[in-house]
Amino acid sequence: MSSSQLRDAALAFAGRLPDSGPVAVLATPRIETVVAVVGCLLAGVPAVPVPPDAGPAEVRHVLDDSAATAWVGERPDGVDLATLPVDLAARAGAATYAVEPSDPALVLYTSGTTGAPKGVTLSHRAIAAGLDALVDAWGWTPDDTLVHGLPLFHTHGLVLGVLGPLRVGGRVQHTGRPTPERYAATEGTMFFGVPTVWSRIAADHDAARALASARLLVSGSAPLPVPVFEAVERLAGRAPVERYGMTETMITLSARADGERRAGWVGSPVLGAQTRLRAEDGGPVPDDGETIGRLEVRGPMLFDGYLGQPTATAESWTDDGWFVTGDLAARDDGGFHRIVGRESVDLIKSGGYRIGAGEIETSLLARPEVAEVAVVGVPDDDLGQRIVAWVVPSGAATPALGRALVDHVARDLAWHKRPREVRFTQALPRNAMGKVQKGRLEA
Ligand code: ATP
Ligand code: MG
Repeated sequence: MSSSQLRDAALAFAGRLPDSGPVAVLATPRIETVVAVVGCLLAGVPAVPVPPDAGPAEVRHVLDDSAATAWVGERPDGVDLATLPVDLAARAGAATYAVEPSDPALVLYTSGTTGAPKGVTLSHRAIAAGLDALVDAWGWTPDDTLVHGLPLFHTHGLVLGVLGPLRVGGRVQHTGRPTPERYAATEGTMFFGVPTVWSRIAADHDAARALASARLLVSGSAPLPVPVFEAVERLAGRAPVERYGMTETMITLSARADGERRAGWVGSPVLGAQTRLRAEDGGPVPDDGETIGRLEVRGPMLFDGYLGQPTATAESWTDDGWFVTGDLAARDDGGFHRIVGRESVDLIKSGGYRIGAGEIETSLLARPEVAEVAVVGVPDDDLGQRIVAWVVPSGAATPALGRALVDHVARDLAWHKRPREVRFTQALPRNAMGKVQKGRLEA
């Protein structure tokens, strides 16, 4: 669909919107979803994308939480809101809408990696600021064709992946399921994926080589394992660009298209964003690339608040106006950041040490016998927490392999960072964005 057809259909859709109240849009990966969301944005009515595979209880939660007044898309049983049709061939009539930059544009739900998904309200101003920062970082132009197969109900797929190309005036091709074959069969100049997508592409040598003509391969939403970064770089001839953001902050850190890329590191603050690291006692953290601190962010792309959760909203800001991400990071003197993980699940306190799970995961992933890994701390009478590595093996799982992996970490890292136990599993619990839900691993 061309941008003028989209504008016509979206304005015609806007004409059917109720006077007030957010509109729930079933976020199936179809052009109708885009038309409805853009129509809402043009009319200044907040859009609430609903995951297409959400169960009845999840749908109910989103509708109650957001107080949606209308529904777009196939209506599931139990939803009694009026359905608004989308007509792709509609011609727009004349219409003007008064939309303020501070008006709410989207209500997006967090991925639910650490608990129930939280509704995040983003203003028009925040979205514009986040996208302009990406245009700056990635040298995004109208000549770019972005390819991805991300879900359309999170920041990554919807804001960056659909509103991004609209802001730039470039093209976007959604692949549906993000398989290596489908990515390889396109003529994209930019590709977005979560780390699981890049991991599959790295394992499919033909597909990875087919991406060699692309300008930019971008990974985000979760840590990109070093071996995957290296395999993509080797096969596609380009190092991936890694970016870090949250539903709440949209985009915060990224490598620049024309700048340095480093495996295991996400880059520096994008245009307008500022970061600071705080020690547990609130003090500053040296920029030595090693010392870990709490990552705090400031900038025009930040969210307005958690829907219906004034306490959670208030608690996530410091008194001097910084948003506390809940993630741990280290920063070097060039402003490059390394994300260590989430303070709540990736920081293991064992035997008086504070240990980042990510470092142990990186060490284990260097072994070819390890396909996937999640390291957690489990309660331990003696140590406080005991390090346990959940491993998806590439081949056979044997007690000898378990011992070899513990020995490997003991040699590779400090002795106290070795897992006390290796547990083999066929698959790690992941959410729709491919993120490992460590809370669902049994203790
Ligand atoms: P919930 O808040 O519901 O637990 P979530 O935090 O996964 O879910 P999102 O807002 O989608 O929901 O994800 C943001 C988080 O994803 C960040 O706080 C960070 O932990 C992680 N993340 C995003 N990008 C990266 C990256 N490049 N490297 C490491 N972690 C990342
Ligand atoms: Mg979160």
